[in-house]
Amino acid sequence: MNKEEKWNAYDSETRKDGSWDGRFYIAVKTTGIFCLPSCKARPPLRKNIELLDSVDECLTAGYRPCKRCHPDRA
Ligand SMILES: [Zn+2]
Repeated sequence: MNKEEKWNAYDSETRKDGSWDGRFYIAVKTTGIFCLPSCKARPPLRKNIELLDSVDECLTAGYRPCKRCHPDRA
Protein backbone atom coordinates (compact mmCIF):
# COMPACT_ATOMS: atom_id res chain seq x y z
CA MET A 1 0.00 0.00 0.00
CA ASN A 2 1.26 3.47 -0.71
CA LYS A 3 1.07 6.28 1.81
CA GLU A 4 -2.16 7.73 0.47
CA GLU A 5 -3.93 4.35 0.48
CA LYS A 6 -2.96 3.84 4.10
CA TRP A 7 -4.22 7.27 5.15
CA ASN A 8 -7.47 6.72 3.26
CA ALA A 9 -7.92 3.38 5.02
CA TYR A 10 -7.07 5.00 8.34
CA ASP A 11 -9.80 7.60 7.80
CA SER A 12 -12.33 5.02 6.64
CA GLU A 13 -15.07 3.45 8.75
CA THR A 14 -13.82 0.03 7.60
CA ARG A 15 -10.81 0.51 9.83
CA LYS A 16 -12.98 -0.45 12.81
CA ASP A 17 -14.15 -3.80 11.45
CA GLY A 18 -10.63 -5.19 11.06
CA SER A 19 -10.55 -5.10 7.26
CA TRP A 20 -7.12 -3.52 7.30
CA ASP A 21 -5.52 -5.51 10.08
CA GLY A 22 -2.24 -6.92 8.85
CA ARG A 23 -2.14 -4.52 5.90
CA PHE A 24 -0.62 -1.66 7.85
CA TYR A 25 0.08 -0.61 11.42
CA ILE A 26 -0.49 2.60 13.33
CA ALA A 27 2.61 3.72 15.22
CA VAL A 28 2.11 6.43 17.82
CA LYS A 29 5.15 8.66 18.18
CA THR A 30 4.10 10.10 21.53
CA THR A 31 3.66 6.74 23.28
CA GLY A 32 6.08 4.53 21.32
CA ILE A 33 3.29 1.97 20.82
CA PHE A 34 2.00 0.46 17.58
CA CYS A 35 -1.53 -0.82 16.94
CA LEU A 36 -3.70 -2.66 14.49
CA PRO A 37 -5.96 -0.40 12.43
CA SER A 38 -8.98 -1.81 14.31
CA CYS A 39 -7.60 -1.10 17.80
CA LYS A 40 -10.23 0.34 20.13
CA ALA A 41 -7.75 2.70 21.75
CA ARG A 42 -8.59 6.35 21.16
CA PRO A 43 -7.15 7.48 17.80
CA PRO A 44 -4.28 9.89 18.36
CA LEU A 45 -3.75 13.12 16.46
CA ARG A 46 -2.61 12.54 12.92
CA LYS A 47 0.58 14.51 13.44
CA ASN A 48 1.54 12.09 16.21
CA ILE A 49 1.27 8.91 14.19
CA GLU A 50 2.93 7.19 11.29
CA LEU A 51 1.53 4.33 9.24
CA LEU A 52 3.94 1.47 8.73
CA ASP A 53 3.75 -1.69 6.61
CA SER A 54 4.83 -4.47 8.93
CA VAL A 55 5.43 -5.52 12.52
CA ASP A 56 9.14 -5.75 11.75
CA GLU A 57 9.18 -2.18 10.51
CA CYS A 58 7.50 -0.98 13.72
CA LEU A 59 9.88 -2.94 15.95
CA THR A 60 12.91 -1.73 14.01
CA ALA A 61 11.71 1.84 14.45
CA GLY A 62 11.63 1.23 18.21
CA TYR A 63 7.88 0.85 18.75
CA ARG A 64 6.37 -1.68 21.14
CA PRO A 65 3.18 -3.69 20.44
CA CYS A 66 -0.07 -2.42 21.99
CA LYS A 67 -1.33 -4.48 24.93
CA ARG A 68 -4.96 -4.12 23.84
CA CYS A 69 -4.87 -5.24 20.20
CA HIS A 70 -1.66 -7.34 20.18
CA PRO A 71 -0.54 -6.41 16.66
CA ASP A 72 2.44 -8.76 16.97
CA ARG A 73 0.09 -11.76 17.28
CA ALA A 74 -2.31 -10.91 14.47
ZN1 LIG B 1 -3.81 -1.18 20.06
